[in-house]
Amino acid sequence: MERIGIFGGTYNPPHLGHIQAAVYGKTALNLDKLYLIPSHISPHKEIPTGSPTPEQRLKMVTLAAEGTDLTVSDMELSRGGASYTYETVLTLRHQHPGAELFLMMGTDMFLTLDSWREAQLLLSQVTPVVFYRGDKGEREQIEEKRQFFASQGISSVVMENPVTEISSTQLRRMLVFDCAAPFLNEKVLAFIRDNGLYGTGRNYTNLPMEELEKVVCSLVKPNRVAHILGCRDTAVELAKKWGADETDAARAGLLHDITKALDGPLQLTLCDQYGMELDAFSREYPKTLHAHTGAMVAERIFGENEAVVSAIHSHTTGKAGMNILEKIIYVADYMEPNRRFDGVELLRAAAFADIDKAMVMGLEMTVSLLKKEGKTISKESQEALEDLKYKP
Ligand code: FE
Ligand code: FE
Repeated sequence: MERIGIFGGTYNPPHLGHIQAAVYGKTALNLDKLYLIPSHISPHKEIPTGSPTPEQRLKMVTLAAEGTDLTVSDMELSRGGASYTYETVLTLRHQHPGAELFLMMGTDMFLTLDSWREAQLLLSQVTPVVFYRGDKGEREQIEEKRQFFASQGISSVVMENPVTEISSTQLRRMLVFDCAAPFLNEKVLAFIRDNGLYGTGRNYTNLPMEELEKVVCSLVKPNRVAHILGCRDTAVELAKKWGADETDAARAGLLHDITKALDGPLQLTLCDQYGMELDAFSREYPKTLHAHTGAMVAERIFGENEAVVSAIHSHTTGKAGMNILEKIIYVADYMEPNRRFDGVELLRAAAFADIDKAMVMGLEMTVSLLKKEGKTISKESQEALEDLKYKP
C-alpha cells in the first residue's frame, strides 16, 4: 500500500527545523511521498500583519525543499480562501485512492485536532502523526489524547522530534537582529533579504522615538510591553530629577529588554553570531545575557550611542563606577509602576531622594534573593555594591 505524508503549515518562514523534521518523518514512517503544503489562510494561526504573501511563502518552501525528496504542493494556495485540512485530504485521497495517509503536525495541533472543521471525516481518512519535543507534561497530554483517539478506533503515531526547533515567532526576531542564519536554508535567507521580508530590508538606526517604540513593542512579548513603557517613563522622570539626558534615558528604557524574549539557547546563538566571547557565569545563567545581547543589538541594529548601549549593558547586574544614566536604567527597571514586591515603595521614594541609596537597595535585594535560591552572585553586582557602599 502506498504511504503518503502530509505536512501543512503557514511556513512563515520555512526553517531548517521544518525540513529536518519532514525528512526525518518521511524516513521513519517509510513514506513513499511527503507533501509540504503551505496554507493559503490558516484557520489556526493568524498571520502577523506585514507577513509575506502566500506566493512568497510558497516560493520559500520550494527553495527550502530543494535537494530533498520532499514534494511541495500549491494545492491550498490555488484553492484560495481558508485552508481546511479536510479539503486537502479529500483531494489527496482522490489522487491516491488506496494509500494510507499520514497527517503530520506539532503538539498544539494534535491536542486540538478533534475540534478542526469536519474532524470526523478528516480522521476517517488519515493517521495523525504528532512530533513532540517538549517536557514530560506535554508528553502526558499527548498520551491522553492518543488514548482518547484510540478509544474511538483512531490510531495515531507519536514521534519524538530529534530536531532542535525554533518557533517562527522567535525566528522573525532573530531575522531583525541579523542572526537567523543558523536556522535557515541559505537560499531562503537570501530570498528573505532580497525581498526585505520580516523587516530585514529596513534601516533601524536612529529611528525617531515613536517609530522606535513601535518596533520595540513588535519584538518583545506582548506581556512585557507595559514593563518596557513603564521603565521608559520612569527613566525619563529620573533623568529630569538627576539632570541626565532625557532622550538617552527614554531610548535606553525602551531598548533595555529588547532581546528578553529569546530563550537561553537563542541568547547563546546571538552571542555566537555576533562573535561575543562568554564567561562561565553567562553560560550558566543565560538569562542575564539579555543585558549583553540587548546592548549589542542596540548598538549594531539600532545604532544607539555609547551612553544608551552601556546603560542597557549594566541593567541586570550593575557594575563598579556606574554613571548617572546607568544608575537610572538599573533603578527604573527595578521599580517602574508595574513592579510589585515588598519594599518597592521604599525603593521608589529612594530613587528620587538619593539614587545611590536606591542602587544599594536594589543590589542588596537581588543579592539576598540569589542567595536564597542558592545561585551565584555576579562579580559585577558584588563590585557595584562595594563601590557604592564603601566609597568615601
Ligand atoms: Fe532586563
Ligand atoms: Fe526590564
